[in-house]
Amino acid sequence: MKIKLNNISEYISSSTKPLVIAGPCSAESNMQMLSTAKELVKTNTHIFRAGIWKPRTRPNSFEGIGTPALEWMNNVQKETGLKVITEVANSSHVDQILKHNIDMIWIGARTVGNPFAIQEIVDSLKGVDIPIFIKNPLNADLNLWLGAIERFYNAGFKNIIAIHRGFFSYGVQKYRNLPQWQLPVELKRLIPDLPIICDPSHIAGNRTLINEISQTALDLNFDGLMIETHIDPINALSDKEQQLSPIQLKELLENLVVRSHSVTNKDTASSLRDLRSQIDKLDDKLINVLQDRMDLAQLIGIDKKTNDITILQPERWKYVLEDRLKKGVAKGLSDEFIILLLRAIHQESINIQTRVMNSNK
Ligand code: PEP
Ligand code: MN
Repeated sequence: MKIKLNNISEYISSSTKPLVIAGPCSAESNMQMLSTAKELVKTNTHIFRAGIWKPRTRPNSFEGIGTPALEWMNNVQKETGLKVITEVANSSHVDQILKHNIDMIWIGARTVGNPFAIQEIVDSLKGVDIPIFIKNPLNADLNLWLGAIERFYNAGFKNIIAIHRGFFSYGVQKYRNLPQWQLPVELKRLIPDLPIICDPSHIAGNRTLINEISQTALDLNFDGLMIETHIDPINALSDKEQQLSPIQLKELLENLVVRSHSVTNKDTASSLRDLRSQIDKLDDKLINVLQDRMDLAQLIGIDKKTNDITILQPERWKYVLEDRLKKGVAKGLSDEFIILLLRAIHQESINIQTRVMNSNK
């Protein structure tokens, strides 16, 4: 089926999911682009991606080819029939992509964090009807992501698709960017009609994790995937650890399981209902336990206030985190989950104790 550019969400829901965008992190040469694209035609790829303007986190590494690479994009369009997409970060990029009939654009994580830049792009796209893909910002701030999407909606753009690419976090961990799946899930709850795709490459930072992240995304009902693919990944000029070869992409796409999101079988429906009612009961208990815990935090807050002791006791917090982490992991819970949960609980205790400290009693 041909992609309908003026209504990508209709295309996504009526075509076979997932929508697949693939292509290199960066355009490096006409040869690299064409040879990658020609191999991608043999996979389920619908749209060819390549970054043209690539300011990296630190300068002095490859920073993209710039405008000349747009002609290579046009060669991909002509020679493969694939639609093409690139990243824009300002109005001069928009001028250039319009001049070169690039089919669609994405807005990168760094740009989405800057409302000035977003507004500039919105203004420069006035009257243009192309699909606009909006990545999440680097920091796990749902409002910033929503804000960028709303700027486009408010200006009358309808062809908007979100891209989940993970969130920056300090320290070395399994992922280059934490998935924090609850954020895109919340975005989908707030704007149910907004299509959302996952970029497992930038979440993973490493090609061995792309399969598992892609499958998770499909199981969370994402509409598609954007996967960095290079004809010669290990010699790529940017993001070489995370790029797949076209053959690896083909294999990955063939192995993905696309599951149905509706329950039609009666037995399944009844067993789901039963398990969910057990979950409901446990959640009620959980809320009661949390409330008891916060009541204790409040009593401790009163003691701290009476005795002029600071709210944060780093030794105690260190002990709580390490102790619960050890116990949680021993029970098979992931350390990522335990840390997130404990941080949230700890923050709420701090909030409660701050209110105690600031009260006049
Ligand atoms: C990219 O897709 O190549 C890119 C730079 O992504 P992000 O903006 O998510 O870092
Ligand atoms: Mn990249």
